[in-house]
Amino acid sequence: MPLQIVHHPDYDAGFAVNHRFPMSKYPLLMEALRVRGLAEPSALSMPEPAPAALLKLAHAADYVDQVIACQVPEKIEREIGFRVGPRVSLRAQLATAGTVLAARLALKHGIACNAAGGSHHARRAQGAGFCTFNDVAVAALALLSEGAVENVLVVDLDVHQGDGTADILKDEPRAFTFSMHGERNYPVRKITSGLDVALPDGTGDAVYLERLGAILPELSGQRRWDIAFYNAGVDVHAEDRLGRLALTDAGVRARDDLVIGHFRSQGVPLCGVIGGGYSTDVPALAARHAILFEMASRYA
Ligand SMILES: [Zn+2]
Repeated sequence: MPLQIVHHPDYDAGFAVNHRFPMSKYPLLMEALRVRGLAEPSALSMPEPAPAALLKLAHAADYVDQVIACQVPEKIEREIGFRVGPRVSLRAQLATAGTVLAARLALKHGIACNAAGGSHHARRAQGAGFCTFNDVAVAALALLSEGAVENVLVVDLDVHQGDGTADILKDEPRAFTFSMHGERNYPVRKITSGLDVALPDGTGDAVYLERLGAILPELSGQRRWDIAFYNAGVDVHAEDRLGRLALTDAGVRARDDLVIGHFRSQGVPLCGVIGGGYSTDVPALAARHAILFEMASRYA
């Protein structure tokens, strides 16, 4: 079966090419997926912008209203890292709805990926660190609130700690957050996840994969998970501007295969999101994000 992929052309909010956030990676990722034969038209879905009520499951009502009205206070915009104008507001609503849709497709088909998402620094009160809304937290709470699932696992392997997801889900006993990240990376003040593993600079493939391989069975031993969200951030890569963990392409490939293979072999539905990646060579970055889809398609 072809891999279920969620995408929208307006995931790209059209930033200037020299912006610190490489916005053009979204269309380039879809191009990379088409070139690889992974974007089967019959398995492509497009989200509608997430309604306010859905976003308010995870975020403060006043903040959601501010984003939708494009009236986010400047102080918060500075923490996010860009102005929240109409295109940014729309992309945040679409990318969040995209992860909700991918999660529903994962429950139906076993696995699905959003070609965006992983905005894990957005906390309940507000956005931060290039993240406007926390798509994974919204999707987890949406599925829990409608009774589609009872136990949700978040596996966050972006190089940055999943502080926003930890903040939003900390009082939700049906959800468990696991973050493995670079110890010295943003955010300086981390918010405690269910399980945090902080790795030193220059960790490299072998040590990284060994740690991960030991943790996955522990997570599965805790509970029978109804869905696993997987943040496959590629800022762990040696050539990433913001990463410090020094993984190679082969390391990223082995990581994604390890995570996806682990949960799929147990029949746990998996929803993949792309997470962070910050390279000035955006085509190379898009190819790195495509690895998640290559690996996921083997289990579709
Ligand atoms: Zn990151």
